[in-house]
Amino acid sequence: MTSRRDFIRIVPLAGAALLASRTSFGADAPKLDPKDPQAAALGYVADATKADKAKFANYAAGHDCANCHQFQGKAGDAFGPCLIFGGKQVSSHGWCSAWVKKA
Ligand code: SF4
Repeated sequence: MTSRRDFIRIVPLAGAALLASRTSFGADAPKLDPKDPQAAALGYVADATKADKAKFANYAAGHDCANCHQFQGKAGDAFGPCLIFGGKQVSSHGWCSAWVKKA
């Protein structure tokens, strides 16, 4: 059973954890390094025109992070969070093979 004292102790910790998770996923999150192992595996590039078209046949001209369903930045943002690369920001002009057309 949780006492009132436990509850008072837990609530600020939960709030701090939520704040920390939002901060690491927000505008001050580090930019994704294309050399990051997960980024490299998915062929992430900060400039979509530099995508490895031979290796990633699903790339098509005009595809970039800004028009990807996974991109969580606002229209016009140079960088923004991506659902695939949690805690990092991707370039709105970037691309990776997990690109899905924004609905
Ligand atoms: Fe960019 Fe979409 Fe790949 Fe994320 S999943 S890096 S937004 S192309």
